[in-house]
Amino acid sequence: MTHNWKFPPDYYQHSQEMLETALDVIPAYRSWRVFDPGKNYPLDARYQVMPALTKKDIRQFFPEGLLPPGKNIQNGLESGAISFVNTSGTTDDKVTNIWNQKWWDVSEKASWKLNAHAARLATGSHPEAILVNPLNVGIASDTVDLPLAERRLARFLYMSERTSYSTWTNQHMDRMIRELAIFQPVILEANPSLLAKLCRYIDESKQKVFQPGLIVLTYENPTNFHYRQIRRVFNCPTASSYGTTETGYVFMQCEDGKFHQNTEFCRVDFQPLKKEHGGPLLGRILVTPFHNEWYHLVRFDVGDLVRLDETDKCGCGRDIGMIVSATEGRFANVTLTCSGKLVSSRELDNNLSVLDGIDEYKLEQTKPDSYELHIASREQDKQKLGETAVAILKGLYGSAANITILHERIIAPEVSGKYRISKTLFPLKIEDYLEENPLNTQR
Ligand SMILES: [Zn+2]
Repeated sequence: MTHNWKFPPDYYQHSQEMLETALDVIPAYRSWRVFDPGKNYPLDARYQVMPALTKKDIRQFFPEGLLPPGKNIQNGLESGAISFVNTSGTTDDKVTNIWNQKWWDVSEKASWKLNAHAARLATGSHPEAILVNPLNVGIASDTVDLPLAERRLARFLYMSERTSYSTWTNQHMDRMIRELAIFQPVILEANPSLLAKLCRYIDESKQKVFQPGLIVLTYENPTNFHYRQIRRVFNCPTASSYGTTETGYVFMQCEDGKFHQNTEFCRVDFQPLKKEHGGPLLGRILVTPFHNEWYHLVRFDVGDLVRLDETDKCGCGRDIGMIVSATEGRFANVTLTCSGKLVSSRELDNNLSVLDGIDEYKLEQTKPDSYELHIASREQDKQKLGETAVAILKGLYGSAANITILHERIIAPEVSGKYRISKTLFPLKIEDYLEENPLNTQR
């Protein structure tokens, strides 16, 4: 399948500089040199045969081995240009990164152009309320409630200091509603699972809530249930923003619902999955961020799957860069049917979305043919809900699937602070699912 993506004039120049500097002088990429067919080959082909940069590589080469030429870590830290940040999560996920706030801010600013509401409302000095897990960003305090003034930073208000929403009380959520009315944010940025929880409470307690100009969902893939719960309470537009600590802002959902690449700030390489697993439109992305003069990452494996838009067009009229019809969730969150076909968390979610009355859920595949669905619901008839869910899951995973339904009071987030809707309890390797690249068989 060929795509006719258009890129800004300097996109290939930045791509070339990033690759050649990496190969020429940056220690983390020394072992990549043998793969380079040479400067006479088209740049995309050169990129295509390169390995992916993993979190393991970052751990191995951090920080000097990933530093652009002419930079000195000590100087950067002392001048305040950079700091080190740790991402939370399991041992495999955990990594320390070089954080360059100035670059992050300009990367974010460029992403606003990709959504008409953000472009209109975001000035860079607009008040913004942030409802995210403080393990990801913000100020954590699980023992003492912090007053509003202590949760303010520049133009931001951090709405919760709690590291798990299982400890949110009604008073805690009443405080959020009250503070939204006082602070009047132009944009509300939120983890969808956290915002959905607040929305369930607002809906149930029949309260009125301040309406921001735009809700930006980030850090997690929103589920259909999250959207439903959020829309019951907020009537402003929502947009999902996709990026990572390592790569900055990569995709932004436009007002028409598709995702556009932040081409000014990153190159994205797409690797399709095998046809039997959802390819060639479903695949993983490797991101090469531009303009970060303190951190040289090339083909970083962000660990996520996306679905390319089949038409390469969008109703909004934007036609620069890759167009993605949906983010499909992390590879770490995929499950398999009984016959071994990959199911992305979005595919699972779309199947379950016909159910009524689910607040949250989590599906764990314990064995190749066994699945446990944890459901948090306020429905009275849990028996019927469970039976319907079993029928849906057998349709998706196969009639031989052993499905256990477990009703829970709440579904707790992972150690990373993020909510995860599905996973296998046995290891999977992405390489087994990627369409084989003939140029790569030499590796
Ligand atoms: Zn669009």
